[in-house]
Amino acid sequence: MTVGLPDDEYTALRDRVFTTIWKELDPLEHQIEDTETIPLDIVLPALRNCGAFGLIVPREYGGAGLSIAQYLPILAEFAKIQGGIRTIVHVHNSFAHALSEIGNEEQKRAILPGAAVGEKSLAFALTEPGNGTGMDLSTRAHRDGDDYVLNGRKWLITNSDIASHFLVLAKTADREVSAIIVPRETPGFTIAALPETMGCKGAEHGELTFTDVRVPATNLVGAEGEGIAHLERALEISRVFIAASSLGTASRALELSLAFSQERVTFGKPIAQRQAIQRYLAEMAVDVYALRGMLADVAAKWDRDQRIPAESSLLKQFGLEAVGRVTDRALLVHGGIGYTRKYPIERLYRDARLNWLEEGPPTVQYLVAARELLGGYQFDDAFDSPAR
Ligand SMILES: Cc1cc2nc3c(=O)[nH]c(=O)nc-3n(C[C@H](O)[C@H](O)[C@H](O)COP(=O)(O)OP(=O)(O)OC[C@H]3O[C@@H](n4cnc5c(N)ncnc54)[C@H](O)[C@@H]3O)c2cc1C
Repeated sequence: MTVGLPDDEYTALRDRVFTTIWKELDPLEHQIEDTETIPLDIVLPALRNCGAFGLIVPREYGGAGLSIAQYLPILAEFAKIQGGIRTIVHVHNSFAHALSEIGNEEQKRAILPGAAVGEKSLAFALTEPGNGTGMDLSTRAHRDGDDYVLNGRKWLITNSDIASHFLVLAKTADREVSAIIVPRETPGFTIAALPETMGCKGAEHGELTFTDVRVPATNLVGAEGEGIAHLERALEISRVFIAASSLGTASRALELSLAFSQERVTFGKPIAQRQAIQRYLAEMAVDVYALRGMLADVAAKWDRDQRIPAESSLLKQFGLEAVGRVTDRALLVHGGIGYTRKYPIERLYRDARLNWLEEGPPTVQYLVAARELLGGYQFDDAFDSPAR
């Protein structure tokens, strides 16, 4: 059971982060979009100072130890502003949290206190240029005495510019995948930039190459060959984080649309008085409200130590579809001017599309959810019918 911070401490921390988001980070939007570069000399200190890097690092390792119910609204707020900043915060926190759950004590002591204050950061390296994800991975790690030696390539790895450590998924045997921590400065490990992305601009998602990269066998996370199980555990909650990001982006698009529809006058009346526009607004609100409810449900379950394998994939899928619909409608409410950079709608629209791909595309979410449901998965909530 995770209780998180007491209410008054949580409110103070949340308000400090929200103030940083709106007063220090949101004003950087145009600079980042114009240059496709995040000014890390401004953004990283701002994130460190408000405590954004330690939000879900447990308190014994120097973090705030928020519950998931407390963390989700903060992450959602980040998804209202420039998306590259949200991806930095998401990946850092998500994999610091993963390490706190699957790492051993030595690994946690080595990385988490630094991660809590933003001096260290763990990126997650799964996706490969030449192969599919999971058992199809081609990156190999073989045991050589007290070391593992890694060879292979990864790409699209977020925070490749700032991470101090990479949690690399590699094959240690034919049907076995293992999770191994590779420090950034290890000889034979190189990182190259990939072309700029459609949205969430400025964040780096680099290509990693491992050529006879040697790390101590103590860098293995969990048992050898159990990488897929660790991956599933880490992605279960990380998919919820993506859905919270979808909620933040959708909520901002709705807020902007409500305001714009009352300002924009056509044929002598604000467009908000037209039933067609009211329908768009109400449909957007249906998605936002449903997503809020689903997030509250999974957060409560996770915080009371329940696994959520079906919910997390269903929620991630619903979130990306919801934010897709909401940003489509927000663009329509804004009309032609919404397609320009006068309003943040066009940026929210582009930023949201990353939610399709993060932590697995829709086909993977369908597969995971269907596998659970066909296996007899129960949602374990008040709607269950014990009589049948
Ligand atoms: C900006 C950005 C940041 C990212 N950050 C990270 C990161 O930090 N770490 C990381 O490891 N990855 C990261 N990714 C990678 C992301 O998780 C993958 O792009 C995504 O999971 C899809 O995998 P893929 O690109 O290999 O697509 P592919 O596997 O090539 O899929 C292409 C299409 O085929 C479908 N498909 C593929 N295989 C099957 C199958 N067996 N059955 C049915 N359909 C299938 C997919 O659903 C998709 O529609 C990032 C991606 C982006 C764009």
